[in-house]
Amino acid sequence: MRMQRLFVSTPRILGRESDTRKDPAKIVISLSDPEAHLGRDKLKVYRPLYTVQYMIAPKSHLIMSYCCEAAANDTGTLAPMIDKTQRIVGGKLRTVMADAAYCTILDLQDCQLRQIELLAPVQSNSFTESKTKKRVERQIDRNQFAWDETERSYHCPAGHRLDYKGQERKQRHGGRSIIQHRYRCSPSHCQGCELAARCVSNPSSGRTIKRLEGQELIDGQRETMNDEQVKERYQLRGQTVERGFADAKGNRGFNRFHRRGLRRARAEMGLLVLAQNIQILDRLERDDVKPEQSNT
Ligand code: SF4
Repeated sequence: MRMQRLFVSTPRILGRESDTRKDPAKIVISLSDPEAHLGRDKLKVYRPLYTVQYMIAPKSHLIMSYCCEAAANDTGTLAPMIDKTQRIVGGKLRTVMADAAYCTILDLQDCQLRQIELLAPVQSNSFTESKTKKRVERQIDRNQFAWDETERSYHCPAGHRLDYKGQERKQRHGGRSIIQHRYRCSPSHCQGCELAARCVSNPSSGRTIKRLEGQELIDGQRETMNDEQVKERYQLRGQTVERGFADAKGNRGFNRFHRRGLRRARAEMGLLVLAQNIQILDRLERDDVKPEQSNT
């Protein structure tokens, strides 16, 4: 199964303000669609948005399940989509292919719990790559700090051991949370270090590295995705990944919802998926009857 996502806008509104959802005093809602999430779409237009995901069968391209949420991103949608798909097909998924947005520690834990293989790269889409590139120009990347499992601490590129400085709980989607640990290199090391200019913005504070609980899953996933056989298998996703949405947008003109409110957006998505699946079934049947004329 493969996960895809698409942002679909409701009719555009003008006017904008940064979206800081955690502070109620700064919450901005759309007067035209208060249920939608306000944010920038892929064209960088500030507008009310719903995010849509498809789960698609790899061979038939049938859309096995979909979801439509009033959210800024896909965080937290993988496990519910897997559960929904398994309920629909009455069976167990073995492998799910997805993009980097679906490869968080919580996603990996969810898949592990369900004994599902998740094939998804870690931070390798173009957005995160460009962000990483900018960061690397400024700073020695955290990946160059070696984790020592025995000492449960990091060693910096200059060979110094970082000290444990504490932890905090970070909130995640759906009321879930994850613990983040902090490690810091002693300022006495950083101040005299020849790498300091590229490593730490303020040597008198020392470089800090954060590590999420379950980070080893991300590290393991990175290794898995570097395996040549896995890369080859993952290509299957690239061959069809945007097909469902390309069809929705290109052939069915689905660039925005035509009604307001989450309930109506979901109903519209349901009708669209139904139409797409009918077309796919029709194509499969025709291919079955006249395989020699098939171009699929
Ligand atoms: S600046 Fe500090 S953390 Fe960075 S390499 Fe030097 S000693 Fe290590």
